[in-house]
Amino acid sequence: MLDPTLASSHGLFEGLFPGPFGNFRPGPITGGCQCGAVRYAVHAPLEMVHYCHCRMCQRAVGNVFALTAGAPREKLEWVKGAPSIFKSSTMAERGFCSACGTPLTVSYHGSLFTFLTVGSLDRPVQAKPEAHYGIESQMPWLNIIDTLPRETTSDDPRLDAMDIFQYPIPLEPVHSR
Ligand SMILES: [Zn+2]
Ligand SMILES: [Zn+2]
Repeated sequence: MLDPTLASSHGLFEGLFPGPFGNFRPGPITGGCQCGAVRYAVHAPLEMVHYCHCRMCQRAVGNVFALTAGAPREKLEWVKGAPSIFKSSTMAERGFCSACGTPLTVSYHGSLFTFLTVGSLDRPVQAKPEAHYGIESQMPWLNIIDTLPRETTSDDPRLDAMDIFQYPIPLEPVHSR
């Protein structure tokens, strides 16, 4: 199979080949916030599309999970405005539109990717989920029937050293199915 990373690094066929996670779309992938103050284009296939059910993502997007798609940072262009940033922990910061509040990004320090909220894509169908993370906090009544890999946040040892800057609230464990 053609290595899509190789294809895009050569600048040839950019965006024409499916990413390793099966996303296919000619031309840039576009999106932005609900009010239109912030707009972006991704000049590469989206990668590592995943649900995160962790409590930090739930609180950041104001919903019971975040669904985000990885955009290579050097291929992500802010074509109008730029997100405001909340540093939610020592590991990550989260971008949002300061005018309308739409959550737009999660960026992990040191990563080559910025993760975009799938709902902010102009065509969310371009992002095909490949995994579930943070399933220790998945709502027990949320039934997403698929066979994707599932991980808990405790599978990531980096989290042990993380300081959280979200407002502290008591966290009871949620036991998922
Ligand atoms: Zn906005
Ligand atoms: Zn998360």
